[in-house]
Amino acid sequence: MEESASAPPFAPPDTALRELQAARDIAQAFLTADRPVEVYRIALERVARLVGAAFGVVFLRADDPELLRPVAAYNWPSAYGGYLAEMRVRVGNGPTGQAVAEGRVVEVYDVFADDALADWWEAAREMGYASSVAVPLRAAGETVGAVTFYFRAPEQLGESDRSLLRLVADQLSATAEKAHLIEDLRRANDQLREQNVELEARYREAEEGRRIKSEFLANVSHELRTPLTAILGYAYLLREGLSGELGPEQTAAVEKMADAGAALMGLINDLLDLTHLKLGRTMLEPEACDAATLARTALEVVPHPQNGVEIVAELPEGTAPLQTDPAPLVRILRNLVSNAVKFTARGTITLRIRSETDDEGRQWTAWSVEDTGIGIAAEDQEHIFAEFRQVDGSTTRRYGGTGLGLALSRGLARRLGGDVTVRSTMGEGSAFELRIPSAPPAAE
Ligand code: ADP
Repeated sequence: MEESASAPPFAPPDTALRELQAARDIAQAFLTADRPVEVYRIALERVARLVGAAFGVVFLRADDPELLRPVAAYNWPSAYGGYLAEMRVRVGNGPTGQAVAEGRVVEVYDVFADDALADWWEAAREMGYASSVAVPLRAAGETVGAVTFYFRAPEQLGESDRSLLRLVADQLSATAEKAHLIEDLRRANDQLREQNVELEARYREAEEGRRIKSEFLANVSHELRTPLTAILGYAYLLREGLSGELGPEQTAAVEKMADAGAALMGLINDLLDLTHLKLGRTMLEPEACDAATLARTALEVVPHPQNGVEIVAELPEGTAPLQTDPAPLVRILRNLVSNAVKFTARGTITLRIRSETDDEGRQWTAWSVEDTGIGIAAEDQEHIFAEFRQVDGSTTRRYGGTGLGLALSRGLARRLGGDVTVRSTMGEGSAFELRIPSAPPAAE
């Protein structure tokens, strides 16, 4: 051990100073050592030298808490090296066992002078010790082990040795406690890691399940489309009289067939598109467009509003150029306006366009569709964007629809780099906004 630089080179080192240095070294080891055993070793070595012990051992409770096992030793007689690892001391048995059982320092001044210790005489003689001191180690209010020092000659410890031992025992107790905590942490960590692996596996399974489901849906939708196209085609031929004249009743029946078929085709197309979006298979073909022209195109194909409802398109006079894929964009606008028509019994449906530049200098184009219809309660405003979700199930019967329109609109808008959002007040009306970057994101 290095002496303090300030100590005179030939003066006998001051005991108190040496004790302090030992305590500091142990504290240092306590703070920096990775493994508690290193702290035990350093403490044993420093203290054994200071108190003049021949060797020393740190014992901790084993898996069976009634047994103590050595976890670190200093200067243990090499001839008994093999025995050390095997050695178990029963709590309550012998000086070390007593120190643990009773939680007090047990000093043996002279092994050979005490008949009660006759069992230890042979070992003491062979290993070369005559006295010992066992100091209990405590952690979390319990005695977890002991540190025992063995001396060659019968010996009585001085008061300063005792105080040093107590100090060291405290530090070793803290080490045992820290080891305990680290062990707990490590176990918790291992458990977490295992759980993570399991969760990840489950997540992957779920993902795979979702993919298979989407794949299945895409195939089924595709297969449904082919016969339905044939049905619609023949209905068209019948209605147009190309397969012979129809009476009024027959015409009405064929028209109902054609309408139901068209609705079914709409549903299948929406499903197919939504599935392709989820599978990441929706390809975009951006081109130079004009925001107002896109809005007009969408308005051409929306259903007529109810009597007393007016559609107002407040579109800019000049051009509002942007770069995007017109097909999905018109589709979203058509959905939004169709919904507004469906849920508005009086008043106006207003379509507006605005352009804006965000904080990062990016240009955005936004289309808003504002209605004076039934409105949507605050708690429903997020749900309506989920697939097959409608404000209430009865809506389907009253207003028709499948609950796919907004899910698809939002999916497409996000694919275009933007989003669809809603503001609404129950009973007053709703305002949906489609907002996308005026130029496609760089990766496109
Ligand atoms: P669909 O209209 O086919 O049911 P959507 O996904 O387009 O499916 O809409 C989901 C639900 O959101 C509708 O059923 C309706 O409850 C609500 N909703 C959508 N647009 C409006 C609107 N403009 N006004 C009131 N409710 C609306």
